[in-house]
Amino acid sequence: MSVAAPNWRERASVIRPDGRAWIDGRPVNAASGATFEDCSAIDGRAITAVAAGDAADVDVAVAAARRAFESGDWSRAPLRERKRVLRRFAELVAQQRDELALLETLDVGKPIRESLAVDVPGAARCIEWFAETVDKQYGEIAPTDPGSIALITREPLGVVGAVVPWNYPLIISAWKIAPALAAGNSVVLKPAEQSPLTALVLARLATEAGLPDGVLNVVPGFGPTAGAALGRHLDVDKIAFTGSGEVGRHFLAYAGESNMKSVSLECGGKSPQVIFADAPDLDAAAACVALGIFYNQGETCNAGSRLLVDHRIADDFTAAVAREGEALQLGDPLDPTTAVGALVDRDQFERVSRYVQLGITEGAHVVSGGARVREDLGGYYFAPTVLAGATNAMRVAREEIFGPVLVSIPFSDEAEAVALANDSEFGLAAGVWTADLRRAHRVAAALRVGTVWVNTFDASDVTTPFGGMKRSGFGRDRSVHALEEYSQLKTTWLDLH
Ligand code: ADP
Repeated sequence: MSVAAPNWRERASVIRPDGRAWIDGRPVNAASGATFEDCSAIDGRAITAVAAGDAADVDVAVAAARRAFESGDWSRAPLRERKRVLRRFAELVAQQRDELALLETLDVGKPIRESLAVDVPGAARCIEWFAETVDKQYGEIAPTDPGSIALITREPLGVVGAVVPWNYPLIISAWKIAPALAAGNSVVLKPAEQSPLTALVLARLATEAGLPDGVLNVVPGFGPTAGAALGRHLDVDKIAFTGSGEVGRHFLAYAGESNMKSVSLECGGKSPQVIFADAPDLDAAAACVALGIFYNQGETCNAGSRLLVDHRIADDFTAAVAREGEALQLGDPLDPTTAVGALVDRDQFERVSRYVQLGITEGAHVVSGGARVREDLGGYYFAPTVLAGATNAMRVAREEIFGPVLVSIPFSDEAEAVALANDSEFGLAAGVWTADLRRAHRVAAALRVGTVWVNTFDASDVTTPFGGMKRSGFGRDRSVHALEEYSQLKTTWLDLH
């Protein structure tokens, strides 16, 4: 029996998401009663009214989180039980795939096929994986002198504030809440104002899975109100943030001005793709480089946005990447064959347009794209864009555009390639393309970035840490190392005499 493929347009027209905040195990309006209109990136149409949380709501959520933490219902629950609830949570996320994927696509404008194949399963797998870590973490015994025994154990921090961006709302929320909950913390999650809907569903599903009330709260709202209130809160023990460098700096300042809460930051990048002429398959590399920048409309922290390419092959390779970009099907995100969807909103469109104009003013030229397309769809669709004739000194090569714009820069030898790649204030990720194993290791070791991909790009798994060096931030999402971000060490010293 064949099941008809879902008609996503039809489903989108009838879905009525709940925009209320989720505090202490139930949906609530903002204390002020204020709401904001959540509009779809696809066509700008209003999806629903969402609670505009502010400092008062953050206070209520943090108090609920603290109460839950102190009760021990989660923080001191038997580990088997914590694991069981988180596993169930992961199952529910996977089961709600269609609803979550549709809401993600409506909010963000990303293709439904990616929301279905990547975002929802990625979030479910992340939660499941961290569930499995719950009863597999051991403490240590320090090598002190005989006559004493010193235990080194890990404890949860308490109340964690997670503040996330709009480009991968589900996945990045899961990267933060899964290890935070696995470690026994309570969480207050503040989704981006552009994309609050899937976070609210996550909270509902967590409660359905058996997470005690107050352990996971979601307060939608704006950065300078709800976000800042969380950052400045005296009873929040940690902020886990992903977003812009500018806001990352705010969180460091908030922590300094309030209770010195710990902070981890992932603040984007300007990731280089370093293409040596001996790359094993230049055609395959060009296709991968195109996806590395145009996937998710270029709205990806680790997007490979700087193409550094051996000058002998620079023109041909850049042209090949441009062709690959043009071949990607751009259009209605609800069409399952669409590969490139809409930019998240008008602000983002204006930012991308400004940068393309700036690149031209700086002396680069447009090889492909460079303009808004498909105005008939109602949202902001931007053609995959390649700029060539650029130098690494140009602002388009130095600043994060966060859109489908690749800047191509030639290099003459390995030393120059490494120098250019490292000549950036960011250090999130890089790609290196070469068939020479020794060169691959040499260059990977020389790059000051959190992740180096060799002959691939954006391969990602919950088992590997993700995060940056330099102004891309500090701290890591994913892998057992993420648990270190959500726990603290305690030494218990026993005298045996
Ligand atoms: P992006 O550039 O991806 O939109 P932002 O850094 O502006 O990233 O936003 C990321 C998150 O930070 C969002 O949840 C946003 O609401 C929040 N935010 C924005 N401004 C502030 C602020 N001044 N204080 C606290 N949080 C903020």
